[in-house]
Amino acid sequence: MIVLKTLEEIELMRESALIVSKTLGMLAKEVKPGVTTLALDTMAEAFIRDHGAVPGFLGLYDFPNSLCMSPNAQVVHGIPNKEPLKEGDVISIDCGALKNGFHGDHAYTFEVGEVAPEVKELLEVTKQSLYVGIAELKAGNRVGDVGYAIQKYTEDHGYGVVRELVGHGLGREMHEDPQMPNYGKRGRGKKFVNGMVVAIEPMTNMGTKDIIQLNDGWTILTKDGKPSAHFEHDIAIVDGKPEILSTFKYINDALGIVTNVEDQFRAKPYGA
Ligand code: MG
Ligand code: MG
Repeated sequence: MIVLKTLEEIELMRESALIVSKTLGMLAKEVKPGVTTLALDTMAEAFIRDHGAVPGFLGLYDFPNSLCMSPNAQVVHGIPNKEPLKEGDVISIDCGALKNGFHGDHAYTFEVGEVAPEVKELLEVTKQSLYVGIAELKAGNRVGDVGYAIQKYTEDHGYGVVRELVGHGLGREMHEDPQMPNYGKRGRGKKFVNGMVVAIEPMTNMGTKDIIQLNDGWTILTKDGKPSAHFEHDIAIVDGKPEILSTFKYINDALGIVTNVEDQFRAKPYGA
C-alpha cells in the first residue's frame, strides 16, 4: 500500500533528509586514507543526535550501526569496522535519520585520496544515472519509466545494474511501497501521483550485475570482485514534478564540486 504524504509531512521529511545530507557533508571532509569506517560511524551517530534525530539504520532489522559502509567491491549494507581506508579506495556511505516520525535515507560513494580513472568514471555515471531516474519521477509516469531510464543509461556505459536490491517508498517507515527497481520497462508498474515520496538508489557494478552476500548476513558484494557504486536521493512528487528533499550540496561544498544539477528538481534552490 502506498502512503501519500501531505505537503506538511513532506516538509518534515525534508528536515529528516537534510540531516542526512549534512551528515554526509560532514563525513566528506573526514573520508581519507587511514580513517576507519567505524570511526566515521561514531562521528555520524553523534552528528545525527546533535541535530535532534536518531540514526535511522541503527537497530533496523537488527543492523548494528548507524551507517552502511561499503568499500570497493561491496555494493551495499557493509558493516563499519576497524579496517582503515586506503588511498584509491571508494566507499559508499548510506545514512538514515529519523526525526518527527519520518525517515531520511540517502547515500553517496566517496573517493579516498586519488582513485583510478575507470573507477572515477563508474562513480560519475552512477551519480548521473540517479538524476536520469529522478527526471522520470513525475505524475502520470510509472515506476517502470524510472527503472528503464536508469538501466538504459547504465548499460549504455557497459556497467551492470544490480537486480536484487532496489529503491523504495519512504515515510514513517524506512521501506514503504512502491519498490523502485533500477531496471524495468517503460509504462509498467504503479503510476506516480502527487504526495508520493521515494528513495531512488542506483547500485551499479563495473562488471557483472551479479552479487553475493557475506555470511555476516548483511554485506553485499559484486560476484566478480570489481568495484560498485551507490548514490541515493529522497524525492517527493509535488505539483506533478520531482522535488528532491535531500541534497549533495554539503558534500559538494566540502569537496569543492561546483554543480547546479539538482536545481532543476527543486522548486526553490537550497541556500547556504
Ligand atoms: Mg539508503
Ligand atoms: Mg534506501
